[in-house]
Amino acid sequence: MAAISTTMLSLVPPGGHLVSSDSLYSGTEKLLTEFVAGHLGVDVEFVDAREPENVATAVDSNTDLIWAETPTNPLMRLCDVRSIADITHDYGVPVGVDSTFASPYFQSPLELGADIAVHSTTKYLNGHSDSIGGAVVTDDDEIFENLAFAQRIGLGNMLSPFDCYLVARGIKTLPARMEHHQENAMAIAHLLEAHDRVASVYYPGLESHPQHNLAAEQMSGYSGMLSFEFDGTLVELEAFIDGLELFTPGASLGGVESLVEVPSLMIPDEVSHGSATAEIPETLVRISVGIEDVDDLCEDLRTALP
Ligand SMILES: *Cc1c(COP(=O)(O)O)cnc(C)c1O
Repeated sequence: MAAISTTMLSLVPPGGHLVSSDSLYSGTEKLLTEFVAGHLGVDVEFVDAREPENVATAVDSNTDLIWAETPTNPLMRLCDVRSIADITHDYGVPVGVDSTFASPYFQSPLELGADIAVHSTTKYLNGHSDSIGGAVVTDDDEIFENLAFAQRIGLGNMLSPFDCYLVARGIKTLPARMEHHQENAMAIAHLLEAHDRVASVYYPGLESHPQHNLAAEQMSGYSGMLSFEFDGTLVELEAFIDGLELFTPGASLGGVESLVEVPSLMIPDEVSHGSATAEIPETLVRISVGIEDVDDLCEDLRTALP
């Protein structure tokens, strides 16, 4: 969040105009609605960024920043970074992409035309659930100077040396971990897709994902995050979560151990009810697939599902 707020505060002046995808990590949504809009008086416009035309309609030459998350937390929606960058660069507006779910191993927003890529290093980059931090990456000198000034002087939100050490250690195994996360996630996505108590599975690697072709084009892999809609009552859903032995309930993600989250039950205050941003279904389950033995993970799910 420090990486994202530094980006916002560096590039969007009070009273400015920001266009954001309407499917977002709940913390970013709160930052945009309550702080950037509420406190700084920025006109924050949420659009369904799955269609680049919606971004085209909202952007004009007074827009300060386009913000997009892809794939999104927790709905696993994608946006076409290249098309969005092509549209907004005609207006001279920079594009920032939160690429946390893909990790730098599977997606390079700057190569797709974005000006800024943001990662929560808390997640895949560190990978061991023992550090909190973020990274902002840009290939634009002016944006870099603004960000560096805001970080050093304006906000002072530096990552501690020990957290830097932990993340640097984690990055050494990023490729090996990401390949394993993806392999396990694909197996679990197929298992869930075939299960009769699962209504829909959202994983960009599945051919049934409505944006699978875009995923195949702009990502080099599908990562280890997926979500699904459970077909049953909230009581049954709670029993399923309680019955899991290898998936720990937890709101973080991207670590070597598998985590499961039900936003409506575990972070009810943060769940969007679809006013300006995309609605999170009540029985949506998000899984951060770890690198444990895949047969053990599948067996655990099969046993716990009703
Ligand atoms: C977790 C997360 C963040 C925030 O990261 P923190 O390290 O918890 O501040 C931002 N964006 C996405 C997509 C995330 O999943």
